[in-house]
Amino acid sequence: MKIAIISDIHSNLEAFNAVLRDIGEVECVLCVGDLVGYGPDPNKVIELLKILGIKSVMGNHDYATITNSAQIFNEIAAEAIYWSHRTITEENMKLLASLPEHMLVEFDNLSLYLVHGSPRDPLNEYVIPNTPDELLLQFLSQTNTNCLIMGHTHLPFYIDFKEKNTGIVLNPGSVGQPRDHDPRASYCIIDYDEDEKVTVTLKRVDYDIKKVSEKIRKAGLPEFLAERLFHGR
Ligand code: ZN
Repeated sequence: MKIAIISDIHSNLEAFNAVLRDIGEVECVLCVGDLVGYGPDPNKVIELLKILGIKSVMGNHDYATITNSAQIFNEIAAEAIYWSHRTITEENMKLLASLPEHMLVEFDNLSLYLVHGSPRDPLNEYVIPNTPDELLLQFLSQTNTNCLIMGHTHLPFYIDFKEKNTGIVLNPGSVGQPRDHDPRASYCIIDYDEDEKVTVTLKRVDYDIKKVSEKIRKAGLPEFLAERLFHGR
């Protein structure tokens, strides 16, 4: 059984579509938040998520967009938050507001805990790839599951603690705004076989960055948000 994990789409419809095409046949697609912010297509991204029945938790940009409060963001991110708040339809805003802070998804003996930031700070904590194992193991045991999935940093990684018989911690990276100097859209596949063996594969997909950057400029969003996509930062 295959499960696709996506995160941080950030209103980038071209990247989202490219990832969905690449995913192909899976049991389900789950999202770790930040559907909106930064990019030019918040409504289309939310609608596609709804049509495909993709479950998602809430991200910090989703929360800031709903509440129209971006004081904790830098000027450029804040501008995109206010723009998104003005642009998103009432119906789509309702869906955004209904996203849970965390989510537990279970298949046979595989249980997944999804949260945008961390189990102790669901919206805002950055759990970066070189976080000490002790803290990751503490988070994992706190969730009582065998797979902890976080987003927010836009930096893909996974660690398998199976020798400690505990589980997996992973971040699929960002679909719509990768920041690891690889501009390709990032996501991951969890493969769960009959012997209950879990395999994680981090994936990258090319998409039409030029098209998105033009849409960003046309929407009147900050130029930096268009430029950064070409450099994956
Ligand atoms: Zn994000």
